[in-house]
Amino acid sequence: MPIPTEPVGSLPRPATLQAAIKDYDDGKITFEQLSREQDAAAADSIKRGEATGEPIISDGEQRISSFATYPLADTLAGTGLAENLAGDGQFFAIFDDGHHRQLPRLTKGPFRYKHYAVEFLEKARAMTSRPLKQAVIAPSMLMLLYPLDGELSGYSREQFHAGLIDEAEKDIRTCFAAGAERVSVDFTEGRLALKNDPRNPWTGRNMLQTFVDLNNRLFARFTPGERVNIGVHTCPGGDCDSVHSAEVDYADMLPSLFKMNAGYFLIQLASEQNKERIYKIIGENIRRDADGVKQVAFIGVINPLNPRVETAQEVADDLVLAAKYIPKDQLGSTDDCGFSPFSIDVKPKHGSPDVARDIAFEKITSRVAGTKIAAEKLGVS
Ligand SMILES: [Zn+2]
Repeated sequence: MPIPTEPVGSLPRPATLQAAIKDYDDGKITFEQLSREQDAAAADSIKRGEATGEPIISDGEQRISSFATYPLADTLAGTGLAENLAGDGQFFAIFDDGHHRQLPRLTKGPFRYKHYAVEFLEKARAMTSRPLKQAVIAPSMLMLLYPLDGELSGYSREQFHAGLIDEAEKDIRTCFAAGAERVSVDFTEGRLALKNDPRNPWTGRNMLQTFVDLNNRLFARFTPGERVNIGVHTCPGGDCDSVHSAEVDYADMLPSLFKMNAGYFLIQLASEQNKERIYKIIGENIRRDADGVKQVAFIGVINPLNPRVETAQEVADDLVLAAKYIPKDQLGSTDDCGFSPFSIDVKPKHGSPDVARDIAFEKITSRVAGTKIAAEKLGVS
């Protein structure tokens, strides 16, 4: 069996689409006009994704505001915000370059998604016959919508969490029902939970275990056969070519990550200083029986924040080294993160989002080719 390879999900939105989103926020164009730009960007993403030889593709998340806010609002500026939310919630993250991203705030119950990922998947399904993946957001991110302290009157924290799990389960199940081969849950807040940044109070509350427990309530809704195709993505963030928690030592986080009963993990690794040390930690913590499912570690071999294109040989070398520590039947490859998890992203180190799109497809092509080389070398092709 070959080494599996899979993208995290997002691609930079073309400059024309980013301009259309702004025009829509400013009331200059209609949603139908915005949709036409989204359709064009998604079709281009799928066509170029197919050309890379990638065995499973996505629409590059061209239609969503961000990986975290797609259930909540139509655009990052908050146009079309869901009921019972206000715009002024917690910082989700403060990045190393100083910019931040903010979540909405729940003002009262009940909490409901306004959009489910399946809406976007169905449009992609109509554009290709190739296997599709869909990324969804973790309950552990959306739990930050609830005030950090105190309770909302008439809607307790536990009522909120129960509602959140119901919505997240529906988000995943409807994707599988609409033909997704795999669904991965974005969990960038996992590493950030250990940062203890005084500017961002939730990161100082030791919430990692709470996150893991909440997400396991979601995974418990699925059979082992279903969870084989449910993944979790971890990274130190990736937005405007900057990160939010790369200084948090993976040694403190990965043991908790693998306690989640998901079938596979998409793990940022290409941009780590000492990859071999991390491969070893993965090998020590990955489980062959996570409540009935054998876990697979897809290691990051591509850095979407750096315009330099990794060679196929570099990708292969990473995988061969990783196989010293991670069993071959539990090893896969991926990109460190989505190429643009947020819709508005000028990709400053790349020069422009359009240049960054071209580079992204070159990088994916390298990942696919390098993974094949590694599989041959490791005797699993
Ligand atoms: Zn990421």
